Amino acid sequence: MAQSLDPTTREALLTRVRFYRDLGLTEFYRRPVDPALAAQFAAGGQGLASENWKYSDQDQTLRTPSFPLLSAERVGDHEPASAPHAYPLEDQPIPPRKPFPAAPEIVAAIPAADRAAALQLIRDEIGDCTRCALHKGRNKLVFGDGSPTARLMFVGEGPGADEDAQGLPFVGKAGQLLNNMIAAMGLRREEVYIANVVKCRPPGNRVPEQEEGATCTPFLFRQIDVIRPQVLVALGATAATWLLGARQPLAGLRGRVHAFRGAQLIVTYHPAYLLRDPRQKKEAWADLQIAMRELGLKLPAKA
Ligand code: SF4
Repeated sequence: MAQSLDPTTREALLTRVRFYRDLGLTEFYRRPVDPALAAQFAAGGQGLASENWKYSDQDQTLRTPSFPLLSAERVGDHEPASAPHAYPLEDQPIPPRKPFPAAPEIVAAIPAADRAAALQLIRDEIGDCTRCALHKGRNKLVFGDGSPTARLMFVGEGPGADEDAQGLPFVGKAGQLLNNMIAAMGLRREEVYIANVVKCRPPGNRVPEQEEGATCTPFLFRQIDVIRPQVLVALGATAATWLLGARQPLAGLRGRVHAFRGAQLIVTYHPAYLLRDPRQKKEAWADLQIAMRELGLKLPAKA
């Protein structure tokens, strides 16, 4: 669809779609969109309507059959944690979708001294993987990086261009921001472990498809079982979706501790989203402080 648009319109549309994706509206751009409507949308969306969705820049609302009314602020969790519950639709259940595959059972703990070798076994098993379509556009498979005995593990969505070129997770601009976030927690990157939902770059940095995530995440779960982090941080809606096994808006997942495979799971924004909207760094820092509290790390003194 998007290839038939002129480059400026296409880029404007993709920018907006990525924005909504980071807000948790992953369903949004799976819908077929008429190129004329897409161009109108990219130009501002005023009065734009189709039987599937309607967007208005004026009141910042998006209407879809699945999401009767979602305000950008609500799904983006822009309000401070202490604010009164301003969005009465927050608790509306999201309609059921195709179920995500159940995570396998947690295996017995592997001694710390053996964890590097256990991770290498998983890497060897993955090999020059062609299990899903993402291998077609891959330069380098991005397995994961960091300490095999990390107490803190970050999970992102998938490799971007820099990661694909280097074979390491989070090495571009978003990676630099993640490094800064780790440093602000009083840790070094080598002390944590970083991986992604999928290990090969999705074309155009799109969200991994259901089949791609379902094929690749069993390896991620096995990495988590080997490392046994005390705290897992899901970076963005895609990581949260695949770790928690259900698609939910980020707003409803942040600010609390979830349980996942023996770890405390914290959900926060993806660094790439924070680069696009730095105003949310404060909220992300609040999430990281929850992780610090769970890890017993010293919290910064309040100014
Ligand atoms: Fe294999 Fe995962 Fe890459 Fe797909 S994304 S080809 S399952 S390593």
